[in-house]
Amino acid sequence: SKRIKIKALLESTQTNIEVTVKGWVRTFRNNQFIALNDGSTNNNIQIVVDFQNTDEVLLKRITTGAALSITGTLVESLGKGQKFDIKATSIEVLGDSDPEKYPLQPKKHSLEFLREIAHLRFRTNTFGAIFRVRNSLSFAVHKFFQERGFIYLHTPVITQSDAEGAGEAFRVTNLDLNNLPRTEEGEIDFKQDFFGKSTNLTVSGQLEGELGAMALSDIYTFGPTFRAENSNTTRHLAEFWMIEPEMAFYDLTDNMDMAEALLKYVINHAIENNKEDLEFLTQRLEEEDKQKPQNERAEMSLLDKLQFCLDNDFQRLTYTEAIEILKESTPNKKKKFQYPVEGWGTDLQSEHERYLVEKHFKKPVILTDYPKEIKSFYMRQNDDGKTVAAMDILFPGIGEIIGGSQREERLDKLEQRMDEIGIPKDELWWYLDTRRFGACPHAGFGLGFERLVLFVTGMGNIRDVIPFPRFPKNAEF
Ligand code: ATP
Ligand code: MG
Ligand code: MG
Ligand code: MG
Repeated sequence: SKRIKIKALLESTQTNIEVTVKGWVRTFRNNQFIALNDGSTNNNIQIVVDFQNTDEVLLKRITTGAALSITGTLVESLGKGQKFDIKATSIEVLGDSDPEKYPLQPKKHSLEFLREIAHLRFRTNTFGAIFRVRNSLSFAVHKFFQERGFIYLHTPVITQSDAEGAGEAFRVTNLDLNNLPRTEEGEIDFKQDFFGKSTNLTVSGQLEGELGAMALSDIYTFGPTFRAENSNTTRHLAEFWMIEPEMAFYDLTDNMDMAEALLKYVINHAIENNKEDLEFLTQRLEEEDKQKPQNERAEMSLLDKLQFCLDNDFQRLTYTEAIEILKESTPNKKKKFQYPVEGWGTDLQSEHERYLVEKHFKKPVILTDYPKEIKSFYMRQNDDGKTVAAMDILFPGIGEIIGGSQREERLDKLEQRMDEIGIPKDELWWYLDTRRFGACPHAGFGLGFERLVLFVTGMGNIRDVIPFPRFPKNAEF
């Protein structure tokens, strides 16, 4: 079709040319002005209808939500707020939309309401902006790694390993539920799940990613990840997308540098390529803020916050240093931490992480060298015998955005740790093979893509930054 997208049309340098646009009606005023949108931008194109010479039946069919094809002349607009109008010479209704039944009215709907009609929320300015930014960020992730010679490695979705995701993995089964196989004791034999093996959906591609890195040097995965998080937080989904690079010959410092560079690169990419959408989202937040009492308002605008993140080094400190800070702190005069920091060895709660980022340092933080008891078996043990070469990156308003580590490449240390924790070595024989044949120092991390999109769009709930959110009791659309 000769259709031109509205974004490209608005960048036109010519007028008095014939154009065809296709899109959905946002509003239709006075039987004369159609605001048409095709999702390429939040800016609508105004169509001027010669209503005196237009069939009345056709005019009635131009309703909010209807799909139209319009041909006409591009002219400079006389109205305020827009550069061009199209003087329609031909209007075709491609799909009607019954105004009595269409759930989206030309007014501001609450995010809660839009979550219930998530199949239609793409048609609002807020979600148009969010999903264009999301698209751009995912392109930037690939661009960053491809420019650095990383190999995009597809790790499996169905897997026998649960990457020690104890209890968080969704089981995959092709069993006939009416005729379940039984063990000799008469219990359901889940070991028969997947053509005779016990399988689940991946909770992380890291272990497989390490196999790739031990030959291709630098790889990354970027795929859907599943966790049976039976909780209702604004930061967790049951299905989310994770970016997991794994780099051979990297230590923890190299790993932190890579992670910081990635985050800054993709945020910068969004600032440069999604100016209009980020300005829209910034303004949206400012309006929301005006409804709040003074002391709850944001200190920085969304765009300033993103720029600040680019302009400053992330604060790096050890877990041990963080505990010292937290022991001496109370969040504010009235309130203590809900979970008081007892001392060294306890895992940090999100209130502690947010305190460090938002109140103490007021910038992104990289925490390193956690106690080995609260981290995974594959993280490299430090010489002190107590900590591992782990890193978590914490972001303002988000909390943990990245978790990573240098990996334990020494077979004896790795096996000893697996024994201590009770991880069956025979099930991970393939993983241990990388330590048997040509083991080398390596490191990697996992970046939760939706947490990144949350940060960049300034949204408050992770369910609003993924097109089709999966969370308890929600998987229809
Ligand atoms: P959290 O402490 O927030 O539950 P985690 O430590 O369990 O996260 P990791 O296993 O370290 O998460 O996974 C790496 C990254 O994946 C996290 O830093 C986070 O950005 C993201 N992530 C983890 N779980 C979820 C989830 N359920 N929904 C969305 N993103 C997630
Ligand atoms: Mg978790
Ligand atoms: Mg965590
Ligand atoms: Mg983590």
